[in-house]
Amino acid sequence: MSEIDYIQLSGIQHFSLCKRQWALIHIENKWTDNWRTIDGTIMHERVHDSSLNEKRGDVITMRALRVVSHTLKVAGECDAVEFIRNGSGIELFGYADKYIPFPVEYKRGKAKSIDADKMQLCAQAICLEEMLACSIKNGALFYGEPHRRVEVEFTQDLRNKVADATKEMHEFIKRGYTPRATKCEYCNQCSLKDDCIPAIGKKQSINNYIKKYLAEG
Ligand code: SF4
Repeated sequence: MSEIDYIQLSGIQHFSLCKRQWALIHIENKWTDNWRTIDGTIMHERVHDSSLNEKRGDVITMRALRVVSHTLKVAGECDAVEFIRNGSGIELFGYADKYIPFPVEYKRGKAKSIDADKMQLCAQAICLEEMLACSIKNGALFYGEPHRRVEVEFTQDLRNKVADATKEMHEFIKRGYTPRATKCEYCNQCSLKDDCIPAIGKKQSINNYIKKYLAEG
């Protein structure tokens, strides 16, 4: 498999929220913006500005850093990676001293009750570990609401979830498989709801949709 066929790192969050949503986007190439996705894109354009790379005190911040993991077969971009000066870290080309990488992912909304955002961040850390031959224990998610950082520990459990999800994503791609719709708490915010469950998007009866779905068996 060439790198061009690797899974998009950002898709891990979609897959964790709704496997069907991920498959619609990444297998069936469907995408529709709503105000949430537009808002998120604007926020990411801002944080992905590599001209904002900087060194402040003991921290070098690099933005829009391309990363890849040949183990997970994923590739993508980190919003920001802070390299924090630490004697037990790694050497960085062009800089004196040693540094430990600390990935930071920006999200427009609030923290979620499931691990979707944490898994995306953990996948970034796994990429960085492979590329830089180092070990990364923590990173952070910055939420637009309520405008603060939440530190994330990359536990073995979280790493296992990332490995399981990426394995399943590769299997879905190989089979060209899109799971059926199952209404979930994210449907009302989903920009794909008209493509996915037209009955919800057009405010028609969900009962009719379910009857049709069952009849198609
Ligand atoms: S509408 Fe719901 S089931 Fe369909 S893709 Fe969106 S979140 Fe998934």
